[in-house]
Amino acid sequence: MAENKNARRGGVSVETEHLFPIIKKWLYSEKEIFLRELVSNAVDAVTKLKRLSSLGEYDAPEGENYRIDVSFDKTAKTISIADNGIGMTEEELDRYISKIALSGALEFVEKYEGKGDEQGSGIIGHFGLGFYSAFMVADEVEVITKSYTGAPAVRWVCGEEGDYTVYTDGIERTRGTTVILHVSSEGEEYLSEWKLREVLAKYCGFMPVEIYLTDEEKADEPQKEGEEPKEKKPENDIHPLWQKNPADCTDEEYNEFYRKVFSDYREPLFHLHLNADYPLNFKGILFFPKLRENYENLEGKIKLYYNQVFVADNIKEVIPEYLLMLRGVLDCPELPLNVSRSYLQNSAYVSKVSTYIVKKVADKLNSIFKDEREKYEKLWDDLRTFVEYACISDPKFCERMKPAILLPLESGKKVTLSEYLEAAKEKNEGTVYYTTDPELQAQFVEMYRARGIEVAVLSGPLDVRFAEVLEQGAKDDEKIKFLRVDADLSALGDGEEEENEKLAAIFKDAAGEDLKLTVKCRRLGEDDAPAVLTVSEESRRMEDMMRMYMPDAPATAKEATLALNLSSPLIGKLAKESDEKKAKEIASYLLMLAIMSNRKFTAEEMKRFQKDSVSLLNDLL
Ligand code: ADP
Repeated sequence: MAENKNARRGGVSVETEHLFPIIKKWLYSEKEIFLRELVSNAVDAVTKLKRLSSLGEYDAPEGENYRIDVSFDKTAKTISIADNGIGMTEEELDRYISKIALSGALEFVEKYEGKGDEQGSGIIGHFGLGFYSAFMVADEVEVITKSYTGAPAVRWVCGEEGDYTVYTDGIERTRGTTVILHVSSEGEEYLSEWKLREVLAKYCGFMPVEIYLTDEEKADEPQKEGEEPKEKKPENDIHPLWQKNPADCTDEEYNEFYRKVFSDYREPLFHLHLNADYPLNFKGILFFPKLRENYENLEGKIKLYYNQVFVADNIKEVIPEYLLMLRGVLDCPELPLNVSRSYLQNSAYVSKVSTYIVKKVADKLNSIFKDEREKYEKLWDDLRTFVEYACISDPKFCERMKPAILLPLESGKKVTLSEYLEAAKEKNEGTVYYTTDPELQAQFVEMYRARGIEVAVLSGPLDVRFAEVLEQGAKDDEKIKFLRVDADLSALGDGEEEENEKLAAIFKDAAGEDLKLTVKCRRLGEDDAPAVLTVSEESRRMEDMMRMYMPDAPATAKEATLALNLSSPLIGKLAKESDEKKAKEIASYLLMLAIMSNRKFTAEEMKRFQKDSVSLLNDLL
């Protein structure tokens, strides 16, 4: 376009000579958001025009096809974003682009200039730099626009230093706005169909106006003979599932949406369609993915949208961290694109959204539990890590979840806490017995089973910590305590502990100098184990916690408590044995058997145990 006589010059740079370099520096890591900003401006322009049309203030042509065209030309080094929306008059262009948009950018610079990198880059995605973010990838930006009012079209060209020129003579353009970026060396990677498609998918995948992508150099290629003209498909889905009424959505649609958005070929366990009315006013879908055992590896993703415009993944200020194990989308039109993290942290609105979501998640789980218990029990193995982590993190969630928390039992059943306690009323009121390792602790489990006491399996990484949370959260009238099967044998025998000095001396002698043994005697059943090691619940938990911080601490304890079963025939014989050497040998062997149910042998112990076993067998022959 030739320079025309009445071109008017202006300078954004006058007040802001170092504005652009700063924008570039701050936004460097998220350069790609220029496309989100420009395309969402185009969406806004179309939305505004549609509103005017519905208000009768604009007479839209019959069958008007609103659309946004993103095109690029690798040779000319341009990227254009064109819409057929509301357009701007010269005066509006001046006001909105040259002045207001600029003041937004200025405010940003004033706030963040000279601050540390972490502070700036954290909030940058939420600070709508809008139009001027174009300068992250361009050294010259052109706007050609024509207002719906019929006012003459205008062309505005702005250089890297912020100096702009406005042209008004003989500009050709139909209603709408085209922004042409003259791409700088920093934006060259975006001169690619693949790259633009990727960025459009990320930020604009659900914007409410159809977006088309064109490689201008290919657009002119003559159509090959016999080839059907290619029907262009929009890059986005203008009716995302979360905007629909849940009653109109099928499971297949939810699964397909999940697959597409999260690139996960596995089906989610179930979903939760959120639809909060005024004043919260947000929509969304949460999916429960299949979770793996190790909670540290879990990485969900909650995508936050603002009126179908993607804002960011996993914003911890809006969604409690534990819910980030889930996957989903949230569309929050009440949270403008350009809010800072500190705003989010202190916002009463945000905390209400968070409370609402937490309540809905707990309600959903409770309702599956109530209505489809069998299905819920099957889901539990996958849900368990999530529920436990959530309960540990948030007492309110825990309180809501309590009726639907399941304890997997060693017998294979799954029962709720209150079902367990109800069954335990006679034999072990208020106590849940559990095993952390059903194989290692099989001997103990068997002793409880023989007495009709069910043992819960708490073998997951969070299970015992979770049990602690349940203990602490219990109300006075429903006090509970969790005891590992080897913590306390009082539920197994009828009588109290007894003293037996002779037996105590034999076992202490057998234990040697390295292991300080406390010996306790009880009368358990005849068939129960003759000797087992017990560890009090408190000291074991303490030790487990220490081990979490000091994983290299030796596994073998220097002290142990040995419980002898006075009803066991073998212990009876041992108590009467007069051959001291023989008694010591038997005691030593029994001690090894007891250690075996408590932990792995050390190499020394293993050698000794095997040698002793061979010698015993030898004596038998
Ligand atoms: P924001 O979009 O946050 O208001 P921007 O800097 O992105 O800030 O844009 C400033 C203003 O310029 C917009 O509010 C709008 O009035 C106007 N504008 C920008 N792009 C367009 C467009 N494609 N069509 C019409 N008006 C536009």
